[in-house]
Amino acid sequence: MTRSTDSALKRPATSESIAHALSLAIHEHKIAPGTKLVEDELADIYGVSRTVIRAALQNLSHVKLVVIRRNKGASVASPSTTEAHEVFEARELLEPRTARSAAMRATRSDIKRLERHMSDEHAALEASDPGRALYLSGLFHTEIARIANQTTIAGFIETLVARSSLIIALYWRRESALCEKHAHHALVQALADKNADAAEDLMRSHLVDLHSALYLRERNDRTLSLKDALTQ
Ligand SMILES: [Zn+2]
Repeated sequence: MTRSTDSALKRPATSESIAHALSLAIHEHKIAPGTKLVEDELADIYGVSRTVIRAALQNLSHVKLVVIRRNKGASVASPSTTEAHEVFEARELLEPRTARSAAMRATRSDIKRLERHMSDEHAALEASDPGRALYLSGLFHTEIARIANQTTIAGFIETLVARSSLIIALYWRRESALCEKHAHHALVQALADKNADAAEDLMRSHLVDLHSALYLRERNDRTLSLKDALTQ
């Protein structure tokens, strides 16, 4: 991280805006899982006190994007394969039902917003910015939860979607780990048709497909110390 980054120029002043900027950078793969987040360095980049940085890092640790260890400071979370399975299994449990509710509630302007998300995501892919496309495809999912108007579940989904981004960053196997365009198109169509059964089925198969696109085998470059690597 250097002083000359875009986020440094914008100088977000509150812990909320810094948490948002860091979250975006994590989503967009600008900061890799496991990266140390040094308070002094961040305070310098954003031109704020360490107290503000500490509050921002606390916010991110609540949604499990950042891990804070006593005496070791904060780093970007680096989910294990077990956590990765759990996150996608939780999404497979929650999101199909949410898509069903969204199909029953979606208004014309909701459909327009979803279509705008899809075209932004497509534009990011065209511009060879898969990190931004990934961020936008996550927003598409949280937007459906918002339409369903189930605030508590939407909160869970938002956290799960953010964690999915880290998981995809670590366990990327093929391009289609990004939400495939046709899957989102079909979902929007089901919502526009108010077809609750189709929306539920499409969301389930979309998430199962996404889950299976990840290469969930423990990465030994990340988890083994030199001693472990040489003695196992
Ligand atoms: Zn998707």
